[in-house]
Amino acid sequence: MPMSDSFSRRLNPIVDEVAGHFGTPFHIYDEAGIRNTCRALKEAFSPIEGFQEYFAVKALPNPTILKIMKEEGFGFDCSSIPELILARQAGATPEDIMFTSNNTTQEEFDAALSDGGCILNLDDLSLIEKVPVMPELICFRYNPGPRRTGNVIIGSPEEAKYGITHDQAIEAFRQAHERGATRFGLHTMVASNELDFSYIVETARMILEVVQEVKEALGITFEFVNIGGGLGIPYRPDQTALDLEEMARQIIGEFDRFREKYGYAPRLYMESGRYMTGPHGVLATRAINTKDIYRQYVGVDACMSALMRPALYEAYHHITVPAREGSPEKIIVDVVGSLCENNDKFAVQRELPPIEDQDLLLIHDSGAHGHAMGFNYNGRLRPKELLLGEDGRVELIRREEKIEDYFATFEFDPDSWQPAT
Ligand SMILES: *Cc1c(COP(=O)(O)O)cnc(C)c1O
Repeated sequence: MPMSDSFSRRLNPIVDEVAGHFGTPFHIYDEAGIRNTCRALKEAFSPIEGFQEYFAVKALPNPTILKIMKEEGFGFDCSSIPELILARQAGATPEDIMFTSNNTTQEEFDAALSDGGCILNLDDLSLIEKVPVMPELICFRYNPGPRRTGNVIIGSPEEAKYGITHDQAIEAFRQAHERGATRFGLHTMVASNELDFSYIVETARMILEVVQEVKEALGITFEFVNIGGGLGIPYRPDQTALDLEEMARQIIGEFDRFREKYGYAPRLYMESGRYMTGPHGVLATRAINTKDIYRQYVGVDACMSALMRPALYEAYHHITVPAREGSPEKIIVDVVGSLCENNDKFAVQRELPPIEDQDLLLIHDSGAHGHAMGFNYNGRLRPKELLLGEDGRVELIRREEKIEDYFATFEFDPDSWQPAT
């Protein structure tokens, strides 16, 4: 089930007025839904002492959303300087931030280590020398390579650019220890949008084994393992949701067995993005043109600058038309934006009720990797973001981009260079 019944029950009756007040297109996020998911995650893992979620900022980098995550007790997973700034502005303490960059620059290391630092997650052996100072607490990203087949979306770990190999793991922690680190964590992320929770359970078992291997070789102890994000959401109505409670039970089982066998267990960290906010957002857009050629088209006032996933991954996003709900008639259409790119389509050959100009369409599951992925190709601007509050109030939490924003990078001090003759 895409957008939850609870969200649509509260949004559908007001969405016309919201659109009238704020103008379309917009993403709107459901505060109650987000908080419920946060609490369900915490509750499911509460038997593991010290369980912590670091919300993956890239999924929905909006200060109002990050404030909600902070209030729910979450930390933040960042991988760029603007994401670090967003997390710190949300009130994150150093150990509330996990900095998981790759192909890292010196500027990024400096920013990560400033302001009291953060939990630094190193992506390669070569970076041990490049960190300006080795922090007391250090983590490495582990890539299992051929020991693990990837899930469908993230691909094979062997072909992934991330992390250190299995053979490098002991050496990485040995060198970090030599350079002064005294506290350790191990991270991995091998799934994306995975609905089969056994894959995530398997990841927890795998990372615990690596921890024990490194501990036996070096005599160091690990404070935490971070099993990454990648929890999936059902984008299609016929998909079943990930069984969070059962996944948590089985992961807790892995931790219990590990503790019984070795007499200790690290804390469990996670950095979900999509699962936390994905289903709790929709993109509301108005039909502005219909067109009947070789196929039937509905043109809307949003385009892939607002939501790239259909064009980029041929991803399915469910679409509903609240005003036409219950219509017995159906049409088969492509729902398109106005970018001069034929893949600028929110839906291809989709069965929908007959749509007229000015109808509002809701494109579901835009709450993660939606607005955040938008771009300005073809002079297209990103839409505004709204929050449907728990008290029913709708608040603007980011304005739409304006033409002045597009032209802002053309304002600069004149500069040029000429080769010496
Ligand atoms: C993107 C990303 C996440 C979040 O992934 P989701 O699929 O949104 O859960 C977590 N950790 C890292 C390192 C990432 O790059």
